[in-house]
Amino acid sequence: MPQAAKVLIDGPSELVFDYAIPEGMAVLPGCRVRIPLQRRNATGTVLAVAEAEVASFKLKPIEALIDPEPLVTKNLIKLAAWMSDYYGTPLEQIMRSLVPGAVRQETHSAKTKLVVHLKRMPEGEDLDKLTKRAPRQHTILALLSVKGALSLTDLGGGSVRASIKALEEAGYVEVKSEAVRRDPEGGEEFLESKPFPLNPGQQAAFEAICKAVDAYADTDPDATLPKPILLHGVTGSGKTEVYLQAAQYALDRNRSVLILVPEIALTPQTVQHFKSRFAGLQDQVAVLHSHLSQGERFDEWHRIRSGQARIVVGARSAIFAPLPDLGLLVVDEEHENTYKQENPPRYHGRDLAVVRASIERCPIVLGSATPSLESFHNARTGKYDLIRINERADGASLPLIRIIDMRLEAKKQKSKFAILSDKLRNGIESRITDGEQVILFLNRRGFARSLQCPDCGHVCECQHCALPLTYHRSEERLVCHLCGYQAIVPRRCPKCNEPGINLQGYGTEKVEEVLRAVFPKARLARLDADTARKKGAVRETLRAFKARKIDILLGTQMIAKGLDFPNVTLAGILNADLSLHIPDFRAGERTFQLLTQVAGRAGRGEMEGEVFIQTFTPHSPSIQFARHHDYDGFADQEFEFRTQFGYPPFGHAALLLSKSTHERLAEFTLQNLHKRLEADLPKNISLGVPNPCPTSKSHGQFRFQLLLRSSSPRTLSRHVQKILAQTTLPEEVTVVFDMDAYDFG
Ligand code: ADP
Ligand code: ZN
Repeated sequence: MPQAAKVLIDGPSELVFDYAIPEGMAVLPGCRVRIPLQRRNATGTVLAVAEAEVASFKLKPIEALIDPEPLVTKNLIKLAAWMSDYYGTPLEQIMRSLVPGAVRQETHSAKTKLVVHLKRMPEGEDLDKLTKRAPRQHTILALLSVKGALSLTDLGGGSVRASIKALEEAGYVEVKSEAVRRDPEGGEEFLESKPFPLNPGQQAAFEAICKAVDAYADTDPDATLPKPILLHGVTGSGKTEVYLQAAQYALDRNRSVLILVPEIALTPQTVQHFKSRFAGLQDQVAVLHSHLSQGERFDEWHRIRSGQARIVVGARSAIFAPLPDLGLLVVDEEHENTYKQENPPRYHGRDLAVVRASIERCPIVLGSATPSLESFHNARTGKYDLIRINERADGASLPLIRIIDMRLEAKKQKSKFAILSDKLRNGIESRITDGEQVILFLNRRGFARSLQCPDCGHVCECQHCALPLTYHRSEERLVCHLCGYQAIVPRRCPKCNEPGINLQGYGTEKVEEVLRAVFPKARLARLDADTARKKGAVRETLRAFKARKIDILLGTQMIAKGLDFPNVTLAGILNADLSLHIPDFRAGERTFQLLTQVAGRAGRGEMEGEVFIQTFTPHSPSIQFARHHDYDGFADQEFEFRTQFGYPPFGHAALLLSKSTHERLAEFTLQNLHKRLEADLPKNISLGVPNPCPTSKSHGQFRFQLLLRSSSPRTLSRHVQKILAQTTLPEEVTVVFDMDAYDFG
């Protein structure tokens, strides 16, 4: 059978066409090719190679290969194939994101500049002549005699062109066109940082990683390879220093290093740490994130592909960095949800990292102070090795956590919407009076509200799924979004008989207002999705906070990540219930993580820290275990709940979503798919019922969802893919399959 190539045509419309592969031409996915398109010449990238579906004489042949080597490495193509099968995503879609547009399209290319090099200096009479008759040429030569070479721009640009031409003709200088790197960090100076002597906990972690690096370097094919390492180190235990020294170890052995971080804008410190430690090798560090310009991305990508950049630090999509000879992969803050890509192609960056490490045969370290239960489960069952660092690196103690029962506070303040308890207010007051700083968190996601009694804190839950029911105002119903169970809205709290069940919430803006009234003299800043929309706003605010120009920083969970501010001595969670009582089985885990991370923000310096947690449900396990810094206790308790209901990590959960501007059509489509999925359902899949999403309408589209669970992710994914392929969907409906879903909103 003749072979055909699917080619993604360069250009904004991203067309894909099939071309025949001429005999003898070695065309692989990722190759750049020249192809005919409507009687002109075009260029494109090969997405896939397969047996031709149409008789090959009907296909136009590829004209030529542009580069002999494909743009992506063999291992990355294997990774793409794995993704396609596991997540049920067409390979082409994955290939498109593997090679960024900036790299694919010929409109972007390396940036060059003209550089003037000194060849020889005139002597004797020649020099005298030049000094007298052409003083400008003489000045240029004088400058060059110091520096050796200077760019045309530095020498004065267009105004000196004629002089340089004359010098070139006389054979004194030579003008060359040279590539310049568009450095995203250009202009920033990094002072080289020296490695810290490691403490015993760090040392043990470091040695374990080095051992893994060595084991993988050993070429004996029969050697058993080390497992992925889960590095569970409490907040402030100095994990970054371990990564830095392990990275150096791998570099010294001529291997390259890939570090994934949750979000560059929110974790600028990690990038800075790498830039500083490897300041001497600055050209070898590449940074990849979504805010790069096309030109910067082009340059960074080619520096990586060519092997010039040996260390890559980047957000989730950097998992596709085409590093050759990968010798160490680190996923920092591996529990973070930002690793989940929620746009096509959907994937989880951490999970892909584990797969890529096994394809590349390289060690991988997943680090966190609050490991995801998925990873921790893998450690408990022996799939991963667990390494722990239980002490803070700087010897500081973990902060004291105080739980404030807002039910009592509401009674005291005679208001159902107490925002600031007396204790927290006094705490803030005394800290800012002493010139210390405060961080306050208010989690607020677009979730529909659950029903919570302001008096006793009771939350209405589904009996079948143990998740909070969601209140639907229009139908006056409580609905379980996983199983479809419905209940009437109680007039009084089912537990304590209190009338008036709390539906009102408050957001960061309201809190800001209250804070300004209570602390009129304090310098206050707010960071949330609204204020962060302005470009550079996050960075600026964090910088000002670090420089102590802000006393109180108020924000959503986006500021809870890995920040290191020694002068922050008080952290407060204004309403822990907001992240706790949402219809998502990971709500407890997220709350535990949030509280632990926030607690880790306070008292990082010499001063002791203090954390206040305001809540209507002070007894909930996430809050109690976080208070006692008891990760294992939390995991045990949470595992029990997850096993009972078959939630991950005991099985995989996927969502099938339908979206449309026509409500009935979206609903009908999902019901139809549900019926077909049910018809020959493999044994180990459990199927929920179609339901409106908790956010039932967004961007003008009605949204419905269906939950699937299975112990075998592949069986699940393939079954859904099979049914989707057999079903003709109405044009007005978008159906999304989200394997290992994280967003149940
Ligand atoms: P983590 O990422 O584990 O939360 P960090 O990497 O932020 O912890 O480290 C916390 C602090 O401890 C940092 O200020 C770091 O410079 C410091 N630190 C790290 N290792 C050492 C060490 N061996 N000795 C002293 N201080 C250290
Ligand atoms: Zn239910």
